Amino acid sequence: MVNQSFHKLGTAPSVIRELFAYGLKQAAAIGAENVYDYSLGNPSIPAPAKVNQSICDILGDTDSIKVHGYSMAAGFDGAREAIARNLNKRFNLSIKSSNLFLTCGAAPALISVIKALLCDAESEIMAIAPFFPEYRPFTESNGGKLVVVPADTKAFQINMEALESLISCHTQAIIVNSPNNPSGVVYTEATLKRLGDLLTKKSKEYGHPIYIIADEPYRELVYGGVKVPFIPHIYANTIVCYSYSKSLSLPGERIGYVCVPDFVEDSAAVYAAVAGAARAMGHVCPPTLMQLVIERCADELPDLAAYDENRTLLYDSLTAMGYECAKPDGAFYLFVKAPNGDAMAFSEKAKTEYNLLFVPGDGFECPGYLRLSYCVSNDMIKRSLPAFKSMIESYK
Ligand code: PLP
Repeated sequence: MVNQSFHKLGTAPSVIRELFAYGLKQAAAIGAENVYDYSLGNPSIPAPAKVNQSICDILGDTDSIKVHGYSMAAGFDGAREAIARNLNKRFNLSIKSSNLFLTCGAAPALISVIKALLCDAESEIMAIAPFFPEYRPFTESNGGKLVVVPADTKAFQINMEALESLISCHTQAIIVNSPNNPSGVVYTEATLKRLGDLLTKKSKEYGHPIYIIADEPYRELVYGGVKVPFIPHIYANTIVCYSYSKSLSLPGERIGYVCVPDFVEDSAAVYAAVAGAARAMGHVCPPTLMQLVIERCADELPDLAAYDENRTLLYDSLTAMGYECAKPDGAFYLFVKAPNGDAMAFSEKAKTEYNLLFVPGDGFECPGYLRLSYCVSNDMIKRSLPAFKSMIESYK
């Protein structure tokens, strides 16, 4: 006998992985230049030179026992102090290393925070559609209920009326992901202010804090001078989950953190519960080598020129052909309306007839849309444009 819900999760198909595998198979059969794979959010710009240099330096100048050894569960002080300095400088805060719990990227950060906040069988976590599909198993596998706020398909901001009607005395937290995967949209200061005011009102009404879990792996990936509002400035009860997977192009190295600032209500208890939840899942002590890299590279930023060029080319070309798409100011995704309204059928036809691979919005709980990851080569985008044109023309 095995646990049935985990068995179901382990055997459930992942549309993204399947598309990616299909793309590799097709590339082997018909040539990589004839496959246009927009399925995966794997960074396509190299890690900053200082990151690679630091890895070499650390391997050369640091005791090998230390580099490959365990750290404390929450991470070494050096890395946490470097992150705290970076946050304090950029956002005018007074974060201390004791506010930070290092993790193997955003996924374990999120699951630790969610698990820490689920108090009883009725506890609820809210997610705003469209959203990263893993929020559902992260919540449900810990006995929580995921409450979905339907998408605002006009601007992909937050459908505040729906959100207000769905908040209950069981709401423990709402996950806010901006810049957003899959829409690429950045929530505006006005949107976040409205959300903060609503959560303040509801927290008072229900007599307990409703936290924001800010899922921020794309915080640094923003274009055209748009600013990503820093949510703790707008709503104090915000717990930040960060990852270097996208900002430093290090998804395989697994490094990120949870930040529970002192101004969060019950911050000591929240931090302790996050540490306990991480411990219960064995999500402790992320790779020491990467902690030492972050200690040296916490201030590094990505060179976004290639993503920006891709974004402009794809957005301008597709909208000129007649595709509808919310303006993507951040991350590396475009969320395009399926011309026939049926994203599953559209993406299946694109895949089988044109080797054009993208993910239907259904997986992000927003049917009728297609997610295109533009962390690809600019040349691939250029070569794929005739296929996009033929696709939309076949629906006219
Ligand atoms: N949150 C969002 C919105 C993501 O898109 C991803 C990864 O794509 C994650 C979290 C997980 O990131 P990590 O690789 O740091 O675990």
